[in-house]
Amino acid sequence: MKPLHAQYPFLDAAREAVEAADVDLARVVRSDEAVLTRALDRIETALDSGRVGDTHRRDRVELLSYPVARVLVSLVDQHILTRKYAAAEAATAHERLQAAFTEGDDLKSRDRERLTIQTLLTEFGMRQTVRETAEGYAVGVGTYLTYASDKREDQWRLVNRPLQDGEVELTEVELLALVEQAIEQRVADGLPLGVPEAIATHLEAERERLEERLADLDLTRDIDTVVPDLFPPCMSALLDQVQKGEHLEHHSRFAIATFLTTIGLTTDEIVDLFEVNPGFGEEATRYQVDHIRGKTSPTQYSPPACSTMQSYGDCVNKDNLCEQISHPLSYYEAKLDDADEDELIDWREEDEAATSES
Ligand code: SF4
Repeated sequence: MKPLHAQYPFLDAAREAVEAADVDLARVVRSDEAVLTRALDRIETALDSGRVGDTHRRDRVELLSYPVARVLVSLVDQHILTRKYAAAEAATAHERLQAAFTEGDDLKSRDRERLTIQTLLTEFGMRQTVRETAEGYAVGVGTYLTYASDKREDQWRLVNRPLQDGEVELTEVELLALVEQAIEQRVADGLPLGVPEAIATHLEAERERLEERLADLDLTRDIDTVVPDLFPPCMSALLDQVQKGEHLEHHSRFAIATFLTTIGLTTDEIVDLFEVNPGFGEEATRYQVDHIRGKTSPTQYSPPACSTMQSYGDCVNKDNLCEQISHPLSYYEAKLDDADEDELIDWREEDEAATSES
């Protein structure tokens, strides 16, 4: 097991090194505390910071913590965790690669094996469709779309890129960003794994700990997009009731109001929405929403978790994604993540367009 395998445990060579060492994963989770601790650390750091943390000083521990982390992620089996974990492994590798390419001398001085762009392209089956040019790289459009389609920024949209003879021009930095995407896909590939009972039993405490972390997670961080078509079924149903002017119990009003404030609606926008409902006087609604968002109270409230929604009877019309999440915000975040760019038209932008057309 080489340092390179520990640094980049998703590589084929790293997997082969683990196989060649004939490692018994059941024995590792039973008796190797250092590996288990680092595996848990990989995932918890992924949730906290979008990276998987510093490498363990022992290459063996670092390398084996990767398959054990994948087992843990599989046991929890929640879309949001799988996605955040895979993205964190990829982001960490990306940072290491960038550092390695800019600080090559430092790595050589420690006599370490190095990854090159060419070995990475071979690793991810991109060698045939990427070629070096005087300015950077030319990437076949098929390969480009495979790895750039999940990127949201305008710069990655094909219409915004020079395209010549079926190739897209990229800088080295941009090519590395595509490699990061390939790494994320590699890490997520095959998850959730089928975990033998003998291993699952030993990881019961770690699984529960991760589930608690997920339930506590502040899922409100990055959401500022209002696309009702992607709302979780429970919130769609509540919004529908509001707009039909039906009476909502206090807990239901609280759930939909906290959800809408959390995803970025202003108090005015929510008041406008609720105005059609006879149960909502403007003043009372404005007061309640300002209170929820922490403007007139010391607390900014979050929407209830699925378990609370279920106990109040607000969890309705569950679909397949509902089986994989524990919070309506996780549902919405997963939907936003999986949506095509075309689907992500913010409700407020649609309204503005309609107003300016009329
Ligand atoms: S499982 Fe959660 S997200 Fe799905 S409908 Fe129920 S409360 Fe909403």
